[in-house]
Amino acid sequence: MRNQQASQLLFELAAPGRRANLLPECDVPTGDLGQRYPAGALREQPPELPELSEGDVVRHFTNLSTLNMSVDTHFYPLGSCTMKYNPKRNERLASLPGIVDLHPLQPDSASQGILELLYEVQGYFAEISGLPSVSLQPAAGAHGELTALMAAAAYYRDRGEQRSKVLVPDSAHGTNPASASMVGFKSIMIRSRADGSVDMDALREHVDEQTAVFMITNPSTLGLFENQISEIADLVHQAGGLIYLDGANMNAILGIARPGDFGADMMHYNPHKTFSGPHGGGGPGAGPICVRDFLDPYLPVPRVAKGPEGFYLDSNHPQSIGRVRSFQGNIGVLVRAYCYIRAYGATGLKDVSRHAVLNANYLLAKLKHLLPVPMGDRCMHEFVASAQQLKKDRGITAMDLAKRLLDFGFHAPTVYFPLTVPEAIMIEPTETESKETMDAFVDAIESILEEPAEQLQTAPQSTMVTRPDEVKAARQPRMRWTASH
Ligand SMILES: *Cc1c(COP(=O)(O)O)cnc(C)c1O
Repeated sequence: MRNQQASQLLFELAAPGRRANLLPECDVPTGDLGQRYPAGALREQPPELPELSEGDVVRHFTNLSTLNMSVDTHFYPLGSCTMKYNPKRNERLASLPGIVDLHPLQPDSASQGILELLYEVQGYFAEISGLPSVSLQPAAGAHGELTALMAAAAYYRDRGEQRSKVLVPDSAHGTNPASASMVGFKSIMIRSRADGSVDMDALREHVDEQTAVFMITNPSTLGLFENQISEIADLVHQAGGLIYLDGANMNAILGIARPGDFGADMMHYNPHKTFSGPHGGGGPGAGPICVRDFLDPYLPVPRVAKGPEGFYLDSNHPQSIGRVRSFQGNIGVLVRAYCYIRAYGATGLKDVSRHAVLNANYLLAKLKHLLPVPMGDRCMHEFVASAQQLKKDRGITAMDLAKRLLDFGFHAPTVYFPLTVPEAIMIEPTETESKETMDAFVDAIESILEEPAEQLQTAPQSTMVTRPDEVKAARQPRMRWTASH
């Protein structure tokens, strides 16, 4: 049911003379405002604020706060983004006064606790990735890609090598080619085979002495592990290039496979995905990177280090690319990652990935009769179904189905990504969902597919906003109410 109170603006709810609270007339002399403030600083007319009771205001904002779907309120099977449940314990620990009251300009001697935590989490990231050197600075996954590619560019510059190309498979996240272009590389798309794996012939065609980096997401955004990864790494390494691993899908392989062991030279994590930092709505993330020893000198400074007198920020790296973020990045997210990793420990983290893969395969097995999954019967932590047949037969698109799911109380899966699958519906249940929740999701899709097409094409019916113009909403957002509207 649509929520009347929340659908109106405060300006529309207002009535002249309404007040939040009434205080008795002030009986203390207040002096002359004109004497306390410079002339011209005082307004002549009172501001045009809506006049409301306290109840109006509280109800308005409380109701607004319930309109979004979130991992705390709904199943949120958004592929690639890993919307797992974020344990509240981590929130409590990250908001301890010893953490939130720190000032980033405190001297190292007065910041030993946080420096130790950051130093330790660097070690965990290195151990899980199999890559020894870490920078915590990048503020998001995409920023990690950019930072690592800048380090790679500096490495080639030092060696006097001119390499201009970054190769990216066609199933890659859009941030991969974007990061390559921002660093000044030319990004070249490598096509995939029908089964979703890298087409080795296409790769061989492009790998040469101009190749700086091959960027790969493994497991891929199709939810498949690229079994040719060692062969790919050998091919690229023989040509003097580097392998970048987009680590957005680490949720599938924690403690099971290490990128450093299967050929990666550098990678980023998305701790807000893999290690349960709350995210979505553009909220803060982090993009720590791990690299091989020969790329170590180029990492951003300052770095968190340990010396005989304790932990300190180390800027003594003359070949460094410099700073990419103020202080040590979004440390709130890193604190949560630290808590998450410590709470699970080595065996617990393996179980996280095993359960993520088990849940995804359970859902795949139950759904594939309803929605074909073109790339296989087995997956890692996510899979990509297709509404192509549904569109042909009944005019129902991936978007229609995604929108209708909202009416059934499920956040929509990722749609139309990766681009290699027509009418893609990418589903990642994560390890934090129960069998009952996944069964209910399958039941909802089953019921929806029995409905007349028109019901889906006009969905959602239960939400405040139905089908916004997505391009306009992103390019020309209207963020402010003005009286002329
Ligand atoms: C989320 C994601 C990114 C970008 O990460 P951000 O933290 O959102 O910048 C890159 N690649 C893949 C595959 C992703 O899923």
